[in-house]
Amino acid sequence: MMLKDYSVVVLGAGGVGKTSMVVQFIHGFFTQEYNPTIEDCYRHLVQLPDGYYHTVEILDTAGTHQFPAMRELSIRSGHAFVIVYSIESEESFREAMKIADMVNNIKGRGKVPMVLVGNKSDLNQNREVDMDRARQLSVDSLECAHLETSAKYGLNINSLFTELLSAAMHIVSKDHIGATIKKGIIIPRMRSKLKRLASDSVVHVATSPQARNQKCTIL
Ligand code: GDP
Ligand code: MG
Repeated sequence: MMLKDYSVVVLGAGGVGKTSMVVQFIHGFFTQEYNPTIEDCYRHLVQLPDGYYHTVEILDTAGTHQFPAMRELSIRSGHAFVIVYSIESEESFREAMKIADMVNNIKGRGKVPMVLVGNKSDLNQNREVDMDRARQLSVDSLECAHLETSAKYGLNINSLFTELLSAAMHIVSKDHIGATIKKGIIIPRMRSKLKRLASDSVVHVATSPQARNQKCTIL
């Protein structure tokens, strides 16, 4: 078995569902309770399309503003990014765009796997953020992928993390052999995969007994 570490950073305004998405991915359940996060890091074993299990770290961050220095540090160390807004909050969408811009400035535009995610897709009746517009802005202005999820019902959650990690894996292994990542090779492939998520592929996500309870809190 080959083991490697990948780090996914989850960012976005408070209350958009970041913790719920990570908990749904790792533990497979949802809760209505709201506990504001400081910063939690989860270690998880995931089987990626190369057939191997990889240890991945998912960093669930605090809602913006409070800790800008921590946010910059987590962006610098991340391999892949999930930037979350809630489809029922235009304000959270604007915040997500700002954060995605920040990631692009720090890591290089279009250089890292990044997905702008409209969570709470089950609350369509309260929608403030139009899906087509959000998708167009993500792809054209931010050069990242776009997806809507529901942490509540687990919609698109597994696929989001698995596709993102696959893209990170390609980039990290290319980095290791010293090759230059040509702009637009990895990311569009991920984008087209993400577009196909509606007809969801089978994804294998496994948690080892050891990995399951390794949750560390960073203060
Ligand atoms: P965070 O601050 O971004 O980590 O947000 P949380 O994960 O703590 O979620 C904030 C609130 O939104 C909680 O009450 C969750 O139960 C709720 N929530 C999160 N995701 C969803 C979702 O997909 N649908 C619905 N209806 N509620 C959600
Ligand atoms: Mg949280």
